[in-house]
Amino acid sequence: MDKPPVMNPLEIVSRAFSAGRLAHAYLLAGAGEQPRRRTLKKLGALLLCYMPVRSADGKLGSCNHCTSCRKVRHGTHPDLVEIMPQGASIKIEQIRKLQEQVIFAPLESKRRVVLIHSIDKMNLSGANALLKLLEEPPDHTHLLLSSGNISRLLPTIVSRCQVLRQASYGSGQETVDQMAKQIERPASRFLQYLVKELSIRDAEELSDIFAARDHIVEFLCGSHRHLLFLKIGGFLWSSPGRVRHTTLVLGTLLRDLMLLCKGSERAKAPATSSKGPILHNDITHVLCRLAERINYDTLEDYEKRLTMAQTMLERNVKPEMIADMLLVFWLKDHDRTRRD
Ligand SMILES: [Zn+2]
Repeated sequence: MDKPPVMNPLEIVSRAFSAGRLAHAYLLAGAGEQPRRRTLKKLGALLLCYMPVRSADGKLGSCNHCTSCRKVRHGTHPDLVEIMPQGASIKIEQIRKLQEQVIFAPLESKRRVVLIHSIDKMNLSGANALLKLLEEPPDHTHLLLSSGNISRLLPTIVSRCQVLRQASYGSGQETVDQMAKQIERPASRFLQYLVKELSIRDAEELSDIFAARDHIVEFLCGSHRHLLFLKIGGFLWSSPGRVRHTTLVLGTLLRDLMLLCKGSERAKAPATSSKGPILHNDITHVLCRLAERINYDTLEDYEKRLTMAQTMLERNVKPEMIADMLLVFWLKDHDRTRRD
């Protein structure tokens, strides 16, 4: 007999959601803090979405467009509580504050969603306080917990949750190939870098990163940049995550362009690019053309600007402001090169 297919956490929760049988508490187990965090956020968004959408394969997901989805994305949803370690641990005060919050009914949604990341980083008093919440789950509240090491948790906590397993991927080329197929892009070094180094294994996120790259390359190569400015702006401003993706893409593109610029000074660029460690090797021809037009100093200017943007991101400056700063710089640079 065929073995039942292994279901991923989103599938399990989406089925329970459709059937109106959501558990009060889910515990997501698996390696990789960032992948777990992304999965919890997706689950949270689904539980709060006003108009969940069903994909072709029957799975439910958040619509990404309703007021609730927008608030989740911007971190301003009043019924989404997110707790993560402050420094090395989750403090008891964070759980106490949560206990006070869940007494009240949700403000905007039918339910309240509490995400607690890395609950293994909680001391015993914190764990006991959390256990109380699990034993007497407050009305309308769903707890979505995650842990990289469930063997370190109190067994009484684990037994009160439905445990979900984050799919573990091999770190090898097969994962890269699998993701390449899913997002219909070549298995470039850039994709390898995203999947292997940054552990991004979410097809939607990878697609969005490549979409950001398409927009940037179009903007940098295009001749009507004032029009392209509005287009790329619309894309970027629609989500703070996209500003993060853009800085990531821009950083790696700059690196490649700098390599090509240096290469073209010594030898002809294509020779470097076919063998060299160009990350965006699926669009080397486009980058070679760009490298011919841009001089090294301009690239260094871009790099400084980008480092500033990254620092601003880390300091939680509004992503829209960062996007503006990056884009306006590009536009100014464009004016400058046109005058030259
Ligand atoms: Zn929605």
